Amino acid sequence: MSSKKKGSLEVICGPMFSGKSEELIRRLRRATIAQQGVVVFKPSIDNRHSTEHIVSHNGSRISAFAIHDTSEIIEYGMRDDVHVIGFDETQFFDNSIVPVICTLVEAGKRVIVGGLDLDFRGAPFGSMPLLMAIANQVTKLQAICTICGNDANFTQRLVDGQAARHDDPIILVGAQEAYQARCRQCYVIDKYPSFHQATIL
Ligand code: ADP
Ligand code: ZN
Repeated sequence: MSSKKKGSLEVICGPMFSGKSEELIRRLRRATIAQQGVVVFKPSIDNRHSTEHIVSHNGSRISAFAIHDTSEIIEYGMRDDVHVIGFDETQFFDNSIVPVICTLVEAGKRVIVGGLDLDFRGAPFGSMPLLMAIANQVTKLQAICTICGNDANFTQRLVDGQAARHDDPIILVGAQEAYQARCRQCYVIDKYPSFHQATIL
């Protein structure tokens, strides 16, 4: 058995505006201060801000590679001078991100993943639930509910100011006017995801 030290996986999840990017940037900055080699990736689908940066809603930013194909990640990530690897908006990577992350962790890298745990329908988003399950540590953040001010776990999608419908397409990379953080009480959707329905035997 190899004696090479293995790495770790940390997941930072929660709804929009919960501070995932802020927390990811904070951890990556600390790693940089500790003289560690840091590299950051985000899916190129997210063009809300600069393609070369992760930008949080409060304006803090860090350089990132915008990735079209997850196979691009290994070449950078496996370099000996890279110790810590960040991923932002991880829910938008396709499922091939999972073996890539596992390879990096096995190779001794500290991988930190930020992403939405739930889509606007209230269903688990992309590879996030799997990554949460295999992570060493999961940080589930809460935003502030735009309606009542309580802690918010959900991302409310609004279309023309009205709650979006379950059948609307999942991916609409949008700005603040299209999405709000809401608590379970204030979150509105016309149909719950299928896992809500118990099978009665
Ligand atoms: P995320 O990556 O989870 O979308 P960011 O790290 O980009 O979150 O932004 C978090 C920041 O967003 C907060 O520090 C705050 O300044 C701002 N913000 C705007 N709306 C809200 C809200 N409803 N709840 C909490 N923070 C909010
Ligand atoms: Zn509320």
